[in-house]
Amino acid sequence: MRRLFLAALALPFLLVAACATAPAPDPSGDSLDAVARDYVALILEIGEREPGYVDAYYGPPEWAAAAKANPREVPALIQGAAALTGRLNALSTRGAEPAVVQRKAYLLAHVSAASARLRMIGGERMSFADEAFALFGVRPELKPLTAYDPILARIDGLVPGDGALADRVSAFRNGFVIPTDRLQVVMDAAIAECRTRTIRHIPLPANERFTLAFVTDKPWSGYNYFQGDAASKIEINTDQPIFTDRAVDLGCHEGYPGHHVYNALLERTFVAERGWVEMSVYPLYSPMSFVAEGSANYGIDLAFPGDEAATFERDVLLPLAGLTGAPVEEKAELNALVRQLARAEYTIADDYLAGRVGREATIARLSKYMLTTTERATQRLRFIETYRSYIINYGLGRDTVQAWVERQGPDHWQGMETLLSSQILPADIL
Ligand SMILES: [Zn+2]
Repeated sequence: MRRLFLAALALPFLLVAACATAPAPDPSGDSLDAVARDYVALILEIGEREPGYVDAYYGPPEWAAAAKANPREVPALIQGAAALTGRLNALSTRGAEPAVVQRKAYLLAHVSAASARLRMIGGERMSFADEAFALFGVRPELKPLTAYDPILARIDGLVPGDGALADRVSAFRNGFVIPTDRLQVVMDAAIAECRTRTIRHIPLPANERFTLAFVTDKPWSGYNYFQGDAASKIEINTDQPIFTDRAVDLGCHEGYPGHHVYNALLERTFVAERGWVEMSVYPLYSPMSFVAEGSANYGIDLAFPGDEAATFERDVLLPLAGLTGAPVEEKAELNALVRQLARAEYTIADDYLAGRVGREATIARLSKYMLTTTERATQRLRFIETYRSYIINYGLGRDTVQAWVERQGPDHWQGMETLLSSQILPADIL
């Protein structure tokens, strides 16, 4: 009731503001609002053709029901995307405020990505780099795997002993596995700390909240299902043992200041305050995912700068997990090097998806360059098979977001909040 009352009060002001800043009505009678409405329909209907394509939707339920009842066939959806592109290009934003100019660019980029995804659903296959560019607006550099060997050599010096390096690193990491019966308490503590550190800098909606559940048999390690009204459903996959440092990673990435915060800020900034319905739907294979995954990963470093994650892990998480005494500092050093290997995965995925390297050899390559067990490498291959070029959004996304935020000024939280409350595209931050 209180929300409705506030909305009624706010409306006249919004109308006045709109009159002051909106460009003259288009002679065609078309508008960005009308295109945005049809864009939501397009995305929801693609979601009926590809399960998992719609990552989140919290607009009017009747729009989802309409898409479900009568989704267009893929060729008609491709035509629909082309029609939206034509309408967007015909709309002038001359004289409009920067946010409106950006809105048009956002819609154009997302319709383009939707069209590419539709062609893929229809059977088209692109190279890894072409696909990444078509879906996410970023073309990854694919270095030969040998470019990463010097990093492996440095890690080899860090974890001495006999046997394959991946086995040695895995054995070292085993000292940090959270026992199953401590998982809940460790994850709760990690997310709570991520949240505390975030709300110190970014004001969140008063009713923001999340649920946490442990699941199995998923291609991913964690997932945030944003429900709308500032609520998230976070799921953590326990197929593989979870390390104490991953609890911090997951808490920041899925929660604060990662996906939960990004979605809650987008909802407030655009859907609630402006009525820009395009932000009530989140197509997974879209430029938005580059910003989402990149900011979620950068958020870990932002919330726990320097050695603060290792300190928190040592002082809080290890005791909760019953692992007091595990060598946290050595692991932090190892993790910093392993991180430099992240993009080796793009080359491995490119070779695998193009059919140049078979399944077993790919698992061996993932094991070698991710320094992990065959079981984890197999799980990661399942992720690559499911999400393909989506993997660029993590490492490359993080580095790109970090560089952009740090270019904005010394207050990195301010830069992060600006990014998370915007329709900024990958092309704007590269
Ligand atoms: Zn994510």
